[in-house]
This record gives sequence, C-alpha cells and structure tokens, in this order.
Amino acid sequence: MINLETPKKHRALVDQAHQVAMNMLRPISRKYDREEHAYPKELDMLAAMVDGLSDSGASEGAGAAGVKRDEKAADTGVRNGANLASVLSIAEMCWGDTGLLLSMPRQGLGNSAIASVADEEQQERFKGTWAAMAITEPGTGSDSANISTTARLDGDHYVINGEKIYVTSGDRADSVVVWATLDKSLGRAAIKSFVVEKGTPGMRVERLEHKLGIRASDTAVIIFEDCRVPAENLLGSPEIDVKQGFAGAMATFDNTRPLVAAMAVGCARASLDLTRELLERAGVEIDYDRPALSQAAAAAKFLQLESDWEGARLLTMQAAWMADNRQPNSLEASMAKAKAGRVGSDVTLSCIELCGTLGYSEVELLEKWGRDSKILDIFEGTQQIQQLIVARRVLGLSSAELK
Ligand SMILES: Cc1cc2nc3c(=O)[nH]c(=O)nc-3n(C[C@H](O)[C@H](O)[C@H](O)COP(=O)(O)OP(=O)(O)OC[C@H]3O[C@@H](n4cnc5c(N)ncnc54)[C@H](O)[C@@H]3O)c2cc1C
Repeated sequence: MINLETPKKHRALVDQAHQVAMNMLRPISRKYDREEHAYPKELDMLAAMVDGLSDSGASEGAGAAGVKRDEKAADTGVRNGANLASVLSIAEMCWGDTGLLLSMPRQGLGNSAIASVADEEQQERFKGTWAAMAITEPGTGSDSANISTTARLDGDHYVINGEKIYVTSGDRADSVVVWATLDKSLGRAAIKSFVVEKGTPGMRVERLEHKLGIRASDTAVIIFEDCRVPAENLLGSPEIDVKQGFAGAMATFDNTRPLVAAMAVGCARASLDLTRELLERAGVEIDYDRPALSQAAAAAKFLQLESDWEGARLLTMQAAWMADNRQPNSLEASMAKAKAGRVGSDVTLSCIELCGTLGYSEVELLEKWGRDSKILDIFEGTQQIQQLIVARRVLGLSSAELK
C-alpha cells in the first residue's frame, strides 16, 4: 500500500541534499542570478561528489539521471526506488536553487529521457553523459506532436535538419536528446528521439536566451544542418508503430513531470521557510492548534499556502512512487505537475506579498524564487496542457476528441 511519508531508507539522502543545498547552492544563488550565462564552476566539484555517491550506491537515483522503469526487477512488493529518491533529492536541491539544480552536470532532463526509453546497450553507452532535451521549435511548443525537425536514414546514419529553441543546458551539456520525425506524413508515431553528441558536425548553438528566472541555467537555440548521427543513437525502436502512436516518446514525460513538480515543491518550500522566519521576527505567530480564521490575517494566509503546498508535495510523491512500482502514472504525473506548478508560483508570489518590502527587494531571495518558480509551470508541459491531459484521462477521451 502507498505510504507518502519519506521512506526511512531515503532520509539520509534527503538530509544530504538539504545540506548541499544550504551550504553549496544558497551561497552562490544570487551571484549566478546576476551573472547570467556565466558557468557555475562550483558545480563541478558537487557533480563529482554526486557521481561518487551514485557509483557507491549510497544515493540511488539522486537527481534527474536516476529516474528509470525497472521492468525486469522481481516483483517483491512495495518499492521505494530511484524515482522517489530523485523527486525527494531534487526538491531539497531546489530549496537551495532551481537554476543551479538545472545546471548540475550529468543531471539533465535528457538523462531522464535516456533512462526512460534507451535499451540496455544504449544505457551503457551513454552512461555518464550530460544530456539536454530538445523538443521545442519556433513553430511548435505545447503541440509537440507537430514537430518539423526531420531525421532521414542515409546508410548507417540519420541526417537531422531543423531548429530547436529554449533548450535547457543546450550549450553546456555533452549531448542533446533531439526529437525529430522520420516521416511527417505518418504523424506522431514517426517521432523519435536521437542522442546527438556535442561537437557533431552540423549541430551548432546559435545563441543563449536572457530570462526572467533560473538565470544560472543556460537556455540555447540549436540549429541542425545536415547533422549526421549514428543510427544506433536513435533511442528505443526505429519502427514506426502507428498503433502505439506517440506512447514511446510520451513515456519520457511520465518520468520527467514528477521531477519538475518536485522542483516547484522545493522552491516553494524555500519561500515558506523564509517567510515563516520573517513573520515570526515581525511578531506574527503561526499556531497549528488554532483555527486559521482566529489568527492574524498573515498567519491564516500562511496556513492556507502551506496546505496547498502539502497537496502538491503528496501528488508529486504519489506519481514517483507509482513509477517505481511500475504502475501507469500519466494521469498522476500530470496532476502533480499541474498542482505543483500552480502552487509553486502562487506560494512564492504570496510570500513576497506577505513579506512586503523585504519580499520585493533583493535583500532576501524571495523575489528571485518568485521569478524562478514561473518556468516550472511552463516547461515539460504548461499548466493548461496538464489540465487537458488530466481531463482526457478522467473522461476517457482521446487527444482528437478533446483539444
Ligand atoms: C526557460 C525555459 C526553458 C525551457 N527548456 C526547454 C527544454 O529544455 N527543452 C524543450 O524542448 N523545451 C524547453 N522549453 C520550452 C517549453 O517547454 C515551452 O515553452 C512550452 O512547452 C510551451 O510552449 P510555447 O512556449 O510554444 O507555448 P504555446 O504552446 O504556444 O502556448 C502558449 C499558451 O497557450 C496555451 N495553450 C497551448 N495549447 C493549448 C490548448 N490546447 N488548450 C489550452 N491552452 C493551450 C499554453 O498553455 C500557453 O499558456 C523551455 C522554455 C523556457 C522558457
């Protein structure tokens, strides 16, 4: 049976991640918010530590690279595995800094795509790579089934042509997982993902974007011009299975959406913790034993924000737990992403409001968290798209029936 308390075996990981967030990310948070596009070199040492922990097995699944569906594992009852470990550690790291978490070497969203759809040989071959994820194009955002980047088989290579925009870590990562169509006339079933390694001729970073938040993270425009990629870099099966449709590619989202939800949970928790501290310093007591309505307005508002946050956290853990236990979780992954994305923005902005001038100024990080959290309600599927997916699943309607 599902139990949404932090499992005992993951408590040490959560504590470790929290310490790292507090002692290594927070101190450089403002610096890299101001120095957009500068590489946070402090993360190299941190990434080496995470690698060491993962190799020793001490931190199963810490970070985005950890997600996977272990279909072959023996059915030994309830499992708290890599997906739950990933969401728990990611939330803690984003309590430190979301932009820096997104800049962690070898923990890109492309890594989760590889973990989700690559076969065993590919998992081994791409082990240790830092992979960005490139789906969005100038003409395609939410409607990811509509991508125009093409991949044409030519001997033992695919030739990729197209433009990808807003690629997180697109400049810094070692490789990019690119979504391209083998044949646009065959629709969504023909969309496949390809690992393109940095330095492959025909792939170039055109520019980096300037952004509202997560400024520590680089966001790139990448052009592919007759870019030749070894055929064995196509992730999963090259067959175009019209019956399976988009299911293969979409499987990635079932694993990555809970991770983004966890980012929102962590960032919002940071705002709540600091707001509580500032309110208490101002003499506002938050009492969990009295009805909210009989307390100061600021305390009542804080309690409402915390309960919303708790709902987001529980949905996020549920979606990850289901992935660990090999239960289909598309509905729950979208519910978690929708709730946490919305709550993340609402909590961080409300905390700015509750703290007044301290919230809005750069004296504290509250204003930064308000800016950082917005993207978590946009990428990996916007709020509106998650709600559409939830509605389709609940009503049993296809994407053609409910647009
Ligand atoms: C900082 C940043 C980092 C990013 N990182 C990545 C990355 O690493 N890889 C990647 O591939 N992409 C990335 N993206 C792109 C992101 O995933 C897209 O911005 C997102 O999917 C939305 O697409 P769009 O911007 O084209 O908006 P659109 O799809 O044009 O949507 C515009 C608005 O219309 C709404 N809308 C669209 N369709 C519907 C509908 N059917 N019903 C109701 N409302 C609808 C949307 O919710 C949104 O509010 C990133 C974006 C940003 C800003």
